[in-house]
Amino acid sequence: MPSQIELLVQLQQVDQTLRANTQAVGAGEQRVAELEDAYRTKAAATDQARTVATALSARQRELEERLSAAESKMKDRRMRITRIRNDKELGLARREVDLLKEEITGLETELQQVYEQVEAATAGLAGLEGELKGLAEAREAEAVALKDTIARLGADIERDRSRRQALIDTVDAALRQRYEMILSRRGGLAVVPVRDGTCQGCRMRVPPQLYNQIQRNDQVILCPSCQRMLHWEPAQEEASE
Ligand SMILES: [Zn+2]
Repeated sequence: MPSQIELLVQLQQVDQTLRANTQAVGAGEQRVAELEDAYRTKAAATDQARTVATALSARQRELEERLSAAESKMKDRRMRITRIRNDKELGLARREVDLLKEEITGLETELQQVYEQVEAATAGLAGLEGELKGLAEAREAEAVALKDTIARLGADIERDRSRRQALIDTVDAALRQRYEMILSRRGGLAVVPVRDGTCQGCRMRVPPQLYNQIQRNDQVILCPSCQRMLHWEPAQEEASE
């Protein structure tokens, strides 16, 4: 029948494993959530870039149609000029051709700019789509890995929870309360071994009288310096001797 301090050592081991496994699952879940966020942000940017590219393409088509219309009008007016005999009419027709020339030059200049913008927008969109695909793949891979982790650790966590409950049932209620209190105050370490007469929690030497008591491992003794519960590890003491 293990003593109370031996039960507390076991309880702390189970608690440490439980904490590590729960943290591993939590870290995996957080990683998937981060990738999910990154994906959503990138997807929004991609949608916006697609809207811009679509609007630019529409503008390009509109300018091309206007240019084509102005060019056929100009062709038509030039043919008419050859048939005009009246000076006044000729002057008006030439003025119209000049205006059309101006319009065509303006449209060509604007189209050139739009072509460049369309090219840049298309390249930008392709880049974003590539990044988005990469993020989707990373998220997928991470989700699969997390599923594995949960499957692997889930059973361990379940087993440790029942072990913890079984141990708690055998530990004295007041001691358990004290254990929980030290655990929360002392960064997850409530029970520490004594080696070579030194508390391994705070590295202070324990008084010789206390040391003899600890070696019996039959009662719960607190370190006078850090207040952690002390236990004796014979195997390690022998190994160090
Ligand atoms: Zn100590």
